[in-house]
Amino acid sequence: MKVCVIGTGYVGLVTGVCLSEIGHNIICVDNDSEKIKKLLSGVMPIYEPGLDILVLKNLNSKNLQFTTDISSAIKSQDIIFICVGTPPRPDGSADLQYVEEVAKQIGNNINSYKIVVNKSTVPIGSGDWVSIIINDNINSNNNLNSNDSNYDPNNNLKNDSKNNLKNNNNSLNKKSDIVSFKFDVVSNPEFLREGTAIADTFFPDRIVLGSSSKEAINIMKKLYEPIINQSFKVCDELLKILPNTKNTSPIPVVETDLVSAEMIKYAANSFLATKISFINEIANICEKAGADIKKVAYGIGLDSRIGPKFLNAGIGWGGSCFPKDVSALTKIAAEYGISTQLLNAVINVNSQQRHKVVQKVQEMLKIVKGKSIGILGISFKPNTDDTRDAPAITIINNLINLGAKIKAYDPVVKKIPESLNPKTIFCPKVEDVFDGADLIILATEWEEFANLDFCRLSKKMREKNLIDGRNFLDKEKLLSLGFNYIGIGR
Ligand code: NAD
Repeated sequence: MKVCVIGTGYVGLVTGVCLSEIGHNIICVDNDSEKIKKLLSGVMPIYEPGLDILVLKNLNSKNLQFTTDISSAIKSQDIIFICVGTPPRPDGSADLQYVEEVAKQIGNNINSYKIVVNKSTVPIGSGDWVSIIINDNINSNNNLNSNDSNYDPNNNLKNDSKNNLKNNNNSLNKKSDIVSFKFDVVSNPEFLREGTAIADTFFPDRIVLGSSSKEAINIMKKLYEPIINQSFKVCDELLKILPNTKNTSPIPVVETDLVSAEMIKYAANSFLATKISFINEIANICEKAGADIKKVAYGIGLDSRIGPKFLNAGIGWGGSCFPKDVSALTKIAAEYGISTQLLNAVINVNSQQRHKVVQKVQEMLKIVKGKSIGILGISFKPNTDDTRDAPAITIINNLINLGAKIKAYDPVVKKIPESLNPKTIFCPKVEDVFDGADLIILATEWEEFANLDFCRLSKKMREKNLIDGRNFLDKEKLLSLGFNYIGIGR
């Protein structure tokens, strides 16, 4: 099937590449020409394990193209994915300017029946709003160049689409006639996790499809058929990197209306964020009461009604999704006059966790001014270079404000993020962080950090203080090496 993916960020790039791998004809579009240039030369603009293998393979097989030419891509493809960012506005609501811009472009360029798939996380009601924008723009531009459409009579979808044109081009007599091409909007929220995005796309827990058009949902099911039936073959190069978590039974497809699909995404992220804030609140009680949160989390996680996932106490959640999605849901609720007391608490507990680390630093070092602190990990979680709303950044900035000298190391983040205080010294090697340090803080649980030779590295430190912000390191071993070790909730 012929698919155009607009926005080649973490979601769009992975979606486009995985759809090309299962045999579809994909054009990925971005208005960032540097990004497209990189991709065309086989350089990945983001860090995501396995992505480079699939990009190169599918560029070579011509299943995958990259372009900045949004008009041609919309015209030539049948299914248009919107995968642009929906960052938070200062008041916490979702900024929809990029989605709006793309919807206008679709309206301006629509030339045959299209399915417009909203994969960006958008507030409820956005699917209808996208339809209105597309319609407004179809009507303000009469999209008459039907010859641009690369009409392919052998393509089933296009045959269907031909029948679905509300006003077939043949009925137009003069250029000034108003055309109204039919299109359907589908909400297909994304649940991939950065770091395991490719496996999550190929082996998802579920696929959610929301639309008022049964026909559009059926076409989307056809698009995802190899994934739903788990009938595709994982290429050998990828098998070396990804766990072969192929399912033996079909992937559940949740067919629903637009609004419910949009709500599923916000509710899922809010629930996961709630689980983490819950365990962090319990961790804070454990810390005072002398219990060990790791044991407590294990004990409750064995209960099948609770489950073990998302029960790791630490410095809290961050990234490009949870913070903005939980905030956006509270804003949506407020529009309906609903006060989100639980979600407000979830957000507050999370921001307190970051400040608690700074308090722990003050308790350990007493005077922070002039002290040298090493930070292990900047990205908001391991196996990604994404630093959006990363807890490490808030912690570093607060410590610099208190007069600390910060050296930081991350296995993949090599550029100082904009939101990070530029006084931060980025170290090329992990051992540099330990040089003369009064304290080490582990902020991201990269596997590399578990295997460090702490015995050797501790000799480089001025004081053997360590705060394990993710309860990730071997506490007993560090204590035996003479470290003054503090975790979270234990
Ligand atoms: P991103 O910022 O990494 O990528 C967005 C891309 O869209 C950028 O490359 C940008 O240049 C491009 N873009 C913006 N306007 C454009 C336009 N008019 N034309 C063409 N390209 C344009 O964002 P992301 O992390 O991929 O997130 C995309 C959406 O998916 C968001 O709504 C996000 O909430 C949601 N989501 C993200 C994740 C995740 O883990 N990152 C997971 C699930 C859902």
